[in-house]
Amino acid sequence: MRNNVMKWGLLLLALMIASPSATAQTSLRVVASFSVIAELVKGVAGDAVSVDVIVPPDEDVHRWELTPPNVLALEETDLVIYNGLELEPWLRDVKAIVENDLPMVALAEQADYPALPLTSGRYQGYANPHMWMAPEGAAAYVDIIADTLSKHAPDHADAFDQRAADLKQTLKELDAELEERLGGIPQTNRTLVTSEAGLAYFADAYAFDYDALWGVNHETMGTAAAMARMQARLAEKRPPGLFFESTTPEIHMDAQARYADLPLAGPLYVDALSGSDGPASSYADMLRHNAEQLHATLGGAREED
Ligand SMILES: [Zn+2]
Repeated sequence: MRNNVMKWGLLLLALMIASPSATAQTSLRVVASFSVIAELVKGVAGDAVSVDVIVPPDEDVHRWELTPPNVLALEETDLVIYNGLELEPWLRDVKAIVENDLPMVALAEQADYPALPLTSGRYQGYANPHMWMAPEGAAAYVDIIADTLSKHAPDHADAFDQRAADLKQTLKELDAELEERLGGIPQTNRTLVTSEAGLAYFADAYAFDYDALWGVNHETMGTAAAMARMQARLAEKRPPGLFFESTTPEIHMDAQARYADLPLAGPLYVDALSGSDGPASSYADMLRHNAEQLHATLGGAREED
């Protein structure tokens, strides 16, 4: 009798080990290209998946050289999740070192969200890669992330779907909050000008007229032609202020601001979250910080009105 109890106990133990519960960790390892995508992947994956990031907070996602820890993470990963639409030109270096059959998923290229064209700089007419800057764009990324993780860890698919649904609800609430905050900016002040065209989707979502000196940070910044075009534009339509971003040099916008005699504000955050002690250490805080910067600079009635 006692022997039987022990046998059943051992059998039960073996079954428990063989069938992982829904909350157990998988062995799945994911490398995300930069801080924003890493946060979205972690939001869907929970504790079930190990997530590494290539470009850390405060560093420009466009311009990066792989570090030894990056190479180690890439050698061990099962999956790379990146933005695509040429946001990360250094992916060429990644593809050179990983196995040919390593799955690589480009969120912006698969997302069910309309791409906007770049309207300034060397790559005019190409799709603008900064789709995550609209919460609805980020929600479209979340769908692709949930599908991708479920394909690689099907035992956890229900948990991934649930967390994706929760995350999309949070993004919807954030969108409504930003809409309300930015809605107060007078119509005459709704011109947003930045160094890089990284806020195109944000400007589109919240009804700002938008322009930038260049399209993407990995092209030549602030060419003479770009600077002259912007000077003419600002002479014609004077916004209450101009903005620079955390990962762009301030000098070009500073020159524009001096020439046009307009205030310069920033930094806005686009291509990187800030470190944990900065004002944009999460996706929601990044968009809230940007909205407050816009509100402070564009929000009041114009002096000449
Ligand atoms: Zn950018």
